[in-house]
Amino acid sequence: MNNQQLWQAILGNLEVSLSKANFNTWFKNTGIVEKGPDFIIIGVPSTFSKDWISRKYQTDILKVLKSISPEIREIKYQVGTQKPVPVVKNSISQATVQSLSASAPVYNNPAPTTQNASFPNLNPKYVFDTFVIGKHNELAHAASVAVSKNPGSQYNPLFIYGDVGLGKTHLMHAVGNKLLQDRSGAKVLYVTSEKFTNDYIQAIGSKRMDEFKKLYRTVDMLLIDDIQFIAGKEGTQEEFFHTFNELRDKGKQIIMTADRLPKDIPAIEHRLISRFEWGMVADIQAPDFETRLAILQTKVAKKGVSISDEIVYFIAENISSNIRELEGALNRLLVYQQMEHKSLTLDQARKILGTMITQKKKVTTLKKIAMSVAEFYNITVEDLIKQSRRKEYVKPRQIAMYVSRKELGSSFPTIGEFYGGRDHTTVMHGVEKIEKLMVQTDSLKQEVDLILDKLYIT
Ligand code: ADP
Ligand code: MG
Repeated sequence: MNNQQLWQAILGNLEVSLSKANFNTWFKNTGIVEKGPDFIIIGVPSTFSKDWISRKYQTDILKVLKSISPEIREIKYQVGTQKPVPVVKNSISQATVQSLSASAPVYNNPAPTTQNASFPNLNPKYVFDTFVIGKHNELAHAASVAVSKNPGSQYNPLFIYGDVGLGKTHLMHAVGNKLLQDRSGAKVLYVTSEKFTNDYIQAIGSKRMDEFKKLYRTVDMLLIDDIQFIAGKEGTQEEFFHTFNELRDKGKQIIMTADRLPKDIPAIEHRLISRFEWGMVADIQAPDFETRLAILQTKVAKKGVSISDEIVYFIAENISSNIRELEGALNRLLVYQQMEHKSLTLDQARKILGTMITQKKKVTTLKKIAMSVAEFYNITVEDLIKQSRRKEYVKPRQIAMYVSRKELGSSFPTIGEFYGGRDHTTVMHGVEKIEKLMVQTDSLKQEVDLILDKLYIT
């Protein structure tokens, strides 16, 4: 049995007991580099994968070796020199790359019709049913429910503001999803304010303003996320002013979110600020302990997994300012639990979440994100930045952009500038692609979780 056959035999055994996502994440580009009298050297793509494999899979690998090559007692690792061995067909990454380039819409709205087929951009998971209500968000929630019952009437526009990761986008989609459920032909359009800006600029550039107006001014509900990013963009503000007026005059609902109050958004026209305040302005604060617990319990029940109460309490106690992080911590523990095939103890949970919790104020930078992503995919930061469209760089680059946006809240132009002076639209498309794919592909979500792990642990 040569090295390659031996490794295939080991992988064959591991593959059975691991989820496909884990298997592909950890064993892609691995191989046996050398076999000695009583040891083997396994080649792995990065120190991160070396740590992980030795910690999680070493015992399993030794077990398999015991039956095939009982003389092997020791496993050593070598980082980054072996030839990539394609271990599985249709590996996760290939699949992800393929779907990244597919242009088909990824979200499916309930009951798509030809009429709303061009607006397939709501996340079907962001509905009222999955939204936990607490003191911190009850006003925004009540206003959203009211709007969903009577769109275009009392609270128009609805302006929801609050810090990142507190459920603004979720609520806004929930209203849109509800309208589609009630009226399957309704035209609900969700865009970030940057997408609006970009569409507008393109429309001017290609002399297709008519199309632009037709798209934005004929919807039944317009959802504009993170409106603060139209600060300083005069032309866009002017256009949005007219879009806003026309929709509102026609009794069509507008919902906006921002990270602050209308009057605190800098460099924005006064007439817009006053319009933003016309309907209802509702804030979302950080959730209190009970609500955090309820959110976690809901997520656990929804996933149909079991995790001990004391661990759930532990997460709720220690992660307080951001619901996305709360979910992230839970998911991270569930991944570990799944790998271990047994319930985690509180002590293990504490260790796993250790740095996430002790560094309550997480600090990261564009550069650190780039480094973590590059290391995870075994490429260099330079590969991420340089002008190459090779698919092994495109996906990590888009993920890096996505993480930068989510973790730092950086603007698209800032991210674009960091990544080799790329246009902000390129960044926006990349972020959107990853966002949509993560809804569909659990494995991608897991990859991103692991990258975050890496980001905050080192
Ligand atoms: P924001 O737009 O304010 O940055 P999001 O709407 O993207 O925040 O929410 C971040 C994550 O937290 C999402 O996965 C969302 O589903 C979840 N989330 C936020 N608030 C709640 C809630 N009250 N109940 C359940 N999940 C929530
Ligand atoms: Mg949001």
